[in-house]
Amino acid sequence: MTMVRRGNGQLRTRERADTPSGGLDLRGVEGLCTSEVEARLDVVTPGLTASVPWLMAGQDTGPTPAVPAGLCASAKSAREMTRGKDVGLAVAWAEEALDEAPCRHDPLCVWRALVTLVSAGELVTVDEQCARLVEDVEPGPFTRAQRRSMMLRARARVARHTGDLPGARRILGELIESDVSQNVRLLGVSWLVDVLLEEGAIDEAVDLMADSGLERAAQQWLMCRPMLLSARAAVRLATGDADTGFQDFLQAERLFEGQRMSNRAMLLCPTQISLAAKATRRDELAARIAGQVLLRARGWGEPRVLGMALSTLATVEDGPDACAQLTEAAELLEVGGARSELITVNQELARRLAARDDVAGARWRIGQAVGIAKEIGAHGRAQNLRAEFGGMTDSVRLTKQESRVASLARGGHSNEQIAGKLGLSLRGIEFHLSNVYRKLGVRGRRGLRDALGEEVAGRQM
Ligand SMILES: [Zn+2]
Repeated sequence: MTMVRRGNGQLRTRERADTPSGGLDLRGVEGLCTSEVEARLDVVTPGLTASVPWLMAGQDTGPTPAVPAGLCASAKSAREMTRGKDVGLAVAWAEEALDEAPCRHDPLCVWRALVTLVSAGELVTVDEQCARLVEDVEPGPFTRAQRRSMMLRARARVARHTGDLPGARRILGELIESDVSQNVRLLGVSWLVDVLLEEGAIDEAVDLMADSGLERAAQQWLMCRPMLLSARAAVRLATGDADTGFQDFLQAERLFEGQRMSNRAMLLCPTQISLAAKATRRDELAARIAGQVLLRARGWGEPRVLGMALSTLATVEDGPDACAQLTEAAELLEVGGARSELITVNQELARRLAARDDVAGARWRIGQAVGIAKEIGAHGRAQNLRAEFGGMTDSVRLTKQESRVASLARGGHSNEQIAGKLGLSLRGIEFHLSNVYRKLGVRGRRGLRDALGEEVAGRQM
């Protein structure tokens, strides 16, 4: 594989002018610390994605070209990111780019480093550093509005990845309303659609898609078209139109592949096409795609994408290990701080636990899912959870006496000890405990730990 797909200078110029998918207009950046090699790298990294044939081809990337001499630290970080193999090295180059001249003064280099860090899950650094794009760089050919738009996009990704959905909504609203190109605006709209769907605000997502021109733009030839198609596909999937949704995803994948976009961290959910395949009863394809996504996610190792990939594979395969895989996915998403995705995984786990009569386990997972949904402002999803799981989402009402008994039992006290502590008869304790077990849907003491989370037990004492 060569770094430059097209040797024709004219094509290259046109492509550079038309490469808005990440929102960056690369015209006239040669004067910065952008060497000729690097400029050519940017031709195939529109908006800093690229260089790896992906997914539908089902092929690995083949031999990796050596880093061309003369690349600056930020370009090297972008290279490592698109290779998707060595997250540590990518982060090291990105950090060097943010710390050291000349990259640290160059908006394009700072942006590249930030994109790399977002896709590596280094969100705290991104959050701390992105304001520099506006305040602390040599502007070069970039206007303040362009640099501000880069900053907003970086902030929007941080908010989305950490499940700060109200924050992501606000930032993207600001981006869309500000002085940006049509392509950046449409990119912002497609990200906002994704946020609305995560919130469970499906009607709003449908309206936004129609009002913003996304629906129409998705028919046109734009570099950001695969992202628009992905957003439209996600809406169609959410509204129950899985067939056309799957077709949209398929088309988006082919375009991503054609553009050599690989790293989805700046894009939309990388695993949705697999879920769409499953929803249209293409079970084998769904599992194959999920397997490929997981393989790539393991190569990169960022916990959020890895957790999503694992949970998707577990969901579409639904094999005997599904619960174990989903539990591992939940742990990864916890590590990655990916709260919105945690709702989905807990929901999937609850379904499976309920199906095998593990009422206490299911109830606990649902409690987690509803709790997170409320915390991140995903009210539509909290509502859906209540609709699906009914009584399981209600907080269990124990009497004061039952709470005391349950809490002591959970803490390892025997019935005799509890009776002694509370000044009640042994029979009374047995009576209270059997009520507690019934209300919580657990069979005995061992179920209390799961059924009564720390917080519940503490509060009810
Ligand atoms: Zn640089």
